[in-house]
Amino acid sequence: MTDQPVNYVIIVGPQGAGKGTQAAAVAPQLGLEHVATGDLFRAILKSDSELGDEVRQYYDQGALVPDDLTIRVLFAHIEQLQRGRPDLTGVLLDGFPRNAAQAEALDSALAERGEAISAVVLVDVPRDELMKRLTGRLICADCGATYHREFNPPASEGACDQCGGELFQRSDDTPEAVEKRLGIYYEQTEPILDHYREQGILIEVDGNREINTVTKAILESLKQRVSN
Ligand code: ADP
Ligand code: AMP
Repeated sequence: MTDQPVNYVIIVGPQGAGKGTQAAAVAPQLGLEHVATGDLFRAILKSDSELGDEVRQYYDQGALVPDDLTIRVLFAHIEQLQRGRPDLTGVLLDGFPRNAAQAEALDSALAERGEAISAVVLVDVPRDELMKRLTGRLICADCGATYHREFNPPASEGACDQCGGELFQRSDDTPEAVEKRLGIYYEQTEPILDHYREQGILIEVDGNREINTVTKAILESLKQRVSN
């Protein structure tokens, strides 16, 4: 752990709103490291371990991984990141917190370190758009880049534009798991936004526009809030 102050920015929104797509575009421009709990769990799933078997029981059904395990995995990752990158200036959290207990755990962990959340960006998209986005989503097996069969196709079918890796459909992007995940979002995640709204740090961005237009809106809204 270092004394370097770290900016914590959260990107939140329903599944399929474009958080991963936007985080990949804006994080490097803002000097933030993109940390997605979903990506951490996908790496664990790939590792073919006992922990992977445990995570899979929840992940494939679109259920939340238990809070204590999620918090442990995330904080261990951030600490490892800070040890390896003493010059780290900021973290863009994607997919965390997802309920009140996780929001509280984050507040206390940051308070203990004299840190705070600089901004929370809500990327909002109407529910009827989300199923189309999620069932057409493709992910690169090697670098994690996100595509869409129709809305953001790769230049060459089945291969990642950035690294040539193979594209796959996520095991939880089935209509059944998507319904369950969206239900959890509206019941457990959306209500925690009031906590950030009351603190005056919630920024709402219309995510139902072209990818580049949304990126510009996020960058514009964060310019004043993220200091490097
Ligand atoms: P999230 O991380 O919020 O679950 P993703 O970034 O993975 O969402 O995006 C979900 C799907 O929607 C992906 O297939 C992505 O290519 C596509 N997508 C993202 N943003 C847009 C957009 N503004 N318009 C159309 N499709 C989009
Ligand atoms: P995502 O990539 O954000 O859509 O997350 C994919 C899956 O990973 C979720 O459906 C959960 O099973 C698990 N997951 C990701 N983030 C969290 C979290 N903060 N709390 C619990 N489970 C999570």
